[in-house]
Amino acid sequence: DSESPKLEMVFIPFIAPGHMIPMVDLARLIASHGVRVTIIITTHNALIFKKAIDRDIETGNPINLHILPFPFAQVGLPEGIENLGSLTSPDQTAKVSMGAMLLQKPIEQILRDRAPDCIVSDMFYPWTADVAAQLGIPRIWFQGSSFTALCAAHSVESNAPHEKVTSDTETFVVPGLPDRLEMTRLQLPDHVRSKTPYGALLDLIGEAETRSYGVLMNSFYELEPSYIDHFKSVIGKKAWHIGPVSLCLSKYDKANRGQNSVVDAHKCLSWLDSKKANSVLYVSFGSLAKFRAPQLHEIALALQASSHPFIWVIRYEETTKDQMWLPDGFKERMNGLMIHGWAPQVLILEHPAIGGFMTHCGWNSILESVTAGVPLIAWPMYAEQFYNEKLVTQIAKIGVGVGAEEWYNLIDDERKVLVKREKIEKAVLRLMDSGDEAEKIRERAKEFGEKAKSVVEVGGSSYNDLTGLIDELVRLRASTAVGWMD
Ligand code: UDP
Repeated sequence: DSESPKLEMVFIPFIAPGHMIPMVDLARLIASHGVRVTIIITTHNALIFKKAIDRDIETGNPINLHILPFPFAQVGLPEGIENLGSLTSPDQTAKVSMGAMLLQKPIEQILRDRAPDCIVSDMFYPWTADVAAQLGIPRIWFQGSSFTALCAAHSVESNAPHEKVTSDTETFVVPGLPDRLEMTRLQLPDHVRSKTPYGALLDLIGEAETRSYGVLMNSFYELEPSYIDHFKSVIGKKAWHIGPVSLCLSKYDKANRGQNSVVDAHKCLSWLDSKKANSVLYVSFGSLAKFRAPQLHEIALALQASSHPFIWVIRYEETTKDQMWLPDGFKERMNGLMIHGWAPQVLILEHPAIGGFMTHCGWNSILESVTAGVPLIAWPMYAEQFYNEKLVTQIAKIGVGVGAEEWYNLIDDERKVLVKREKIEKAVLRLMDSGDEAEKIRERAKEFGEKAKSVVEVGGSSYNDLTGLIDELVRLRASTAVGWMD
């Protein structure tokens, strides 16, 4: 009631774009419902979001950034490198991750001082479960993936179907799921196939989840209903689907979301204005994936051969040496834009000229495409992306696969070609040329785009889940400080 103080929630995002962007959106969305929200964030990462948060504050939303210095000196990094998306050399990955670990003590102190009503922690900070327990408050973890991926990973890890096949390329069925999903061993993450340090971290994360109140997911019911039901009934954790969170963004936020764009968004959109509806392919592989020159060369040849207009986003060291991997005369002949660095992805996807998105199947990218009603070419690489591919191509049927065969470790430096030009070109033509299959896929993608917009409106499934969560937390606070753990 109006007499009681506002609910207070603290959000702790992990320092990678794919984690930080949706969690900040989520925090802003929750603040727009009148909850007092604090986001704990390091200095340079705070700069990315500060303008948007300042505008939220001006409009009366109770949100603030609690800014914390990143321990550059302690881990031997130059000032300003504090995000896995802004590394300038490969050896910085471990240092940035180490810096993130060193944030534990100061963040714990902030949490003790603030004693909020609830902690929303990125999955990568399992230790927040301990502080939550000490404070007697619920910890909710934020998982930036699909329910489909969570259910599939849970089945693979608990049933080990990959141990029953005799080779890495033989297919096996992921058991117990609502659909018949087939995989090969080659498509499973490293840590499932052998013991890795990352696997050990995931064990800690899993243990923290058993002590958590539930999970917040950037998805919506209508997109993967049977997997949401499966997750709740079979895996048995509380879960709230409150997405797509990108729909809470204003036009300004979209232009510089997650980093400053290296292109003038206006120029990019005017170029798209000159193209026919659904004719342009958007090609981007998220904030972390790196390709070596031979693979970039294959992509260029495929784009050239398909002759569809494109926007191609490229990030990593080799980008400055285009001439080494671009086919002769590519730039002169191309009917496309190449963006070297950060692109205004959500704005691009929303443009009616965009007819397809070739993606690494990072969950944010998929959901942003779904929201814009854009069908996908799925090229999964690492993390849970091979599971997300199944949602795209087989479950929701809103895209085609490029035929990726192998899970690819991000820090693997081998100069190999993972997918050949013929396969890439074939997938582009399958989706972008007119034909029955492409029409059906496009129609379904448009339908999901409409659904995505309606679920966040008053009375929609995501709106109801979000307000339901807030009501539940208010009731929980009123009932007892620690009762929920029993
Ligand atoms: N993104 C962007 N511009 C870029 C690259 C990425 O705005 O040039 C955003 C994209 O819209 C998404 C996020 O960065 O919100 C990437 O998240 P995703 O889960 O797709 O992939 P990850 O980077 O985590 O592998």
